[in-house]
Amino acid sequence: MDLFEYQGKQYFAQYGISVSPGDIADTVDEAVAVAERVGYPVVLKAQVKVGGRGKAGGVQLAANVDDVRRHANNILGLDIKGHVVHRLWVEHASDIAKEYYASFTLDRANKTHLGMLSAQGGVEIEVVAEENPDAIAFLSIDPVRGLDLATARRWVAEAELDEVAREQAAELLVKLYDCYTRGDCDLAEINPLILTPDNQVHALDAKVTLDENASFRHPEWEAFRVNETEDPREKMAKEKGLNYIGLDGSVGIIANGAGLAMSTLDVVNQVGGTAANFLDIGGGANADVMAAALEVINADPKVKSIFVNIFGGITRVDEVAKGVLEALKRVSITSPIVLRLDGTNAVEGRAILAPHLSSTLITEATMLDAARRAVALATN
Ligand code: GDP
Ligand code: MN
Repeated sequence: MDLFEYQGKQYFAQYGISVSPGDIADTVDEAVAVAERVGYPVVLKAQVKVGGRGKAGGVQLAANVDDVRRHANNILGLDIKGHVVHRLWVEHASDIAKEYYASFTLDRANKTHLGMLSAQGGVEIEVVAEENPDAIAFLSIDPVRGLDLATARRWVAEAELDEVAREQAAELLVKLYDCYTRGDCDLAEINPLILTPDNQVHALDAKVTLDENASFRHPEWEAFRVNETEDPREKMAKEKGLNYIGLDGSVGIIANGAGLAMSTLDVVNQVGGTAANFLDIGGGANADVMAAALEVINADPKVKSIFVNIFGGITRVDEVAKGVLEALKRVSITSPIVLRLDGTNAVEGRAILAPHLSSTLITEATMLDAARRAVALATN
């Protein structure tokens, strides 16, 4: 789960990482109220889960109440790379002497954690990596041994951070590593990490990705989900434990396996249709899962047909077929269903469905034929 910047900063603060005082605002008036509270000048920042907000006009400095009103008005509702801004983070503006970059992430190939530190922050790290790779100091961290202060001190020197910043930066990096590991992050990134003219080091931005596999030991993460999904279909799917992503098209998709689900979207597109969703029912394609999947798709008013694409492996197609029939007893479905059943026990599976086939329950032999049929039914 990716966090918004303001949530990332809250998370950082829990681990003692210094951030600017601020608060969220969903309206112009709220932005003014926060600005008055934290003191001018302030910076208004679009809360969207996408980088490059600064370049897109989503980060603005405001010296007084008129500036706040003007910028809040402009940023709220702004579309940044397809993400519409509904919320601002307003914080007391910092004076910047230097902008650095710091992050921790997982190095899967090396089976270690990877720290990246650069004295050239503020810009996208990908650009630094390309144009000036020597400006990034990489640190491979054994997850058992962790990161101690002595190592962090050597690291900040190697990255050539300004002398005055080094001790504070080293201490902050140890805290950030603590947040990254104990806080179960896949990514904890600060860009920019700044040095102020009065020699203070603190985080001006926060990019945090939480490792959902660890959510069982973080009940407090629920609060981060509050405005996670505005899509009612995704909310319903999440409640039913389904791996669902809502899209805009008219063909509802059910597939087993993320790879097959993606291929299903592609093949629907290829034959001129549009998918209403991504839905991977995984290996557990029993009646409960199938009923839940059909219910969620059926609740989407844009759906005109449903394409069930199953390739049996460990999942047996006869079980899926029984699941579909059982699900249809429980849920009344308004769109025609086209099934492509292949793989383990496909013959048995098709035999189970055979007596029930109709103009609204159709099987096709191949994925392509099934896609064509589902698209035709969706566009008629
Ligand atoms: P991003 O573009 O989405 O990464 O958003 P950031 O939070 O990193 O902000 C982009 C840029 O805005 C930063 O690199 C800074 O140069 C600038 N900025 C952000 N906050 C402040 C601030 O408090 N004071 C000043 N002077 N500049 C800021
Ligand atoms: Mn940034």
